[in-house]
Amino acid sequence: MRILVANRGEIALRIIRAIQELGFEAIAVYETPDEMSKHILTADEAICLGNGPRSDYLNVEKILAAAKDTGAVAIHPGYGFLAENPVLARVCEQEGIIFIGPSSQSVSDLGNKVVARKIMAEAGIPMVPGTGDLAQGRKGVDEALTFAREYGYPVMLKATAGGGGRGIRRIENDEDMVAQIPMARAEALAAFNDDSVYLEKEVLNPRHVEVQILADSFGKTLHLGTRDCSIQRRNQKLIEIAPSRIQNKPLLDKICHTAVKAAKAANYLNAGTVEFLIDQDNNFYFLEINTRIQVEHTVTEMVTGIDIVRNQINIALGKPISFDQDDVKLRGHAIEVRINAEDPKNDFMPEGGKKVRVYRSTGGFGVRLDGLVYQGYVIPEAYDSLLVKLTVQGFTWEETVGRLGRCLDNFTIRGPKTTIPFYQNIVQEKDFINGQFDTSYIDTHPHIFHYSEERGEGGKLAHFIADIHFNKENPFAK
Ligand code: ADP
Ligand code: ADP
Ligand code: MG
Repeated sequence: MRILVANRGEIALRIIRAIQELGFEAIAVYETPDEMSKHILTADEAICLGNGPRSDYLNVEKILAAAKDTGAVAIHPGYGFLAENPVLARVCEQEGIIFIGPSSQSVSDLGNKVVARKIMAEAGIPMVPGTGDLAQGRKGVDEALTFAREYGYPVMLKATAGGGGRGIRRIENDEDMVAQIPMARAEALAAFNDDSVYLEKEVLNPRHVEVQILADSFGKTLHLGTRDCSIQRRNQKLIEIAPSRIQNKPLLDKICHTAVKAAKAANYLNAGTVEFLIDQDNNFYFLEINTRIQVEHTVTEMVTGIDIVRNQINIALGKPISFDQDDVKLRGHAIEVRINAEDPKNDFMPEGGKKVRVYRSTGGFGVRLDGLVYQGYVIPEAYDSLLVKLTVQGFTWEETVGRLGRCLDNFTIRGPKTTIPFYQNIVQEKDFINGQFDTSYIDTHPHIFHYSEERGEGGKLAHFIADIHFNKENPFAK
């Protein structure tokens, strides 16, 4: 049996591994700017879709044709690209190809934040006050001003079809509102092909806690516990932790229970994530449901031992989930850091176009790497800046943080600037160690941006090994 992976980078690799472990063949697709990507080499067959960039990974017809030509019976969409595009899910349903994810109806309903909020409100799931889609023109601006008058500033202006942290603006006053709505619409139209926007009351300095869900077609819906993803830049996650560090078990149990209820209310099938915000008084609010595998699924896999991607495939093939809620046991703690080719000191500016001159990864007990780069890899500018996800697991929280610090200290990437030295500071920072962080963490801890550029290039051993490979004759040597 053959399964096509409609994605690139680390998640394509991750999915290919699960497909091959199940004894199936994996078909990769790629665009020519991405031809150095490792996922092409590890797949059983790789199909070039065209020159892109991005447009071919987003081309439903080409992906479908590649699946048919290679005899693939199923398509795994990964995250990003077509994963939350209901058209791919729908076309698969029409053409008799298995879409590894929920129904196209779920993708469409839950991908729309306003529709999702409506379904959740009807099911009695708690959420922050918000509007529906704002009307076009002056009428919509008036609706927005009325909402702000009733609930007070600050409010969040959000693209209804938004995702990946994009399309969210914080509005502090009437003037701002009038100015930002047209800009937000234009941005949403360009990014998501839909200019709908709506408002939510802002939760002040919340924690972002989410719950991993698995649901099969036999009516079993279970959760795999919580993840804390509060450490973000530009509303996008950088560090993720399982389980949440909130020392309030009844609260976390209630959130997990609510997530299962939310998934059931949406008739949800396959793996999904229910996201919540928790305020300073431990009230929690539904944020959205992501209808796909998430970048940070690795931390949940590390603490539960459950292979989420393998389960996604099995569920899509019509098999029942082989375990029950009581079988899901959390072992210790896991932390994932997204090692991105970005300069944290320069507002996390992407470092695309640069060559990875030296790459020495870490290893050892409780360490997992999901990456796409190797020495000599040139980072394509067209795609996101994620190079490798470093996930560590430990028995106690202290051990886990210590393990992460040790791994970062002997991780060497030279060429692009990366987020490694920034994370090296965070693992030594007192509030992080104490589990005291919310979505304002990066803004309220400016000293984590203070480090020398030498950091992140690895410890003594890493330098020694790198120097053996890159002797003085090598033009790339330091
Ligand atoms: P996306 O679809 O881009 O992931 P989300 O709605 O999940 O967007 O929000 C992403 C992040 O933006 C949240 O984790 C949080 O940091 C911030 N955010 C979103 N909505 C609110 C809100 N109402 N109040 C405070 N922060 C919010
Ligand atoms: P398969 O039948 O193809 O082996 P399963 O449905 O048994 O697939 O397993 C899917 C994933 O769920 C695997 O990663 C496995 O480790 C995990 N899993 C299966 N049974 C249990 C269990 N009782 N407790 C925890 N995890 C389990
Ligand atoms: Mg989100």
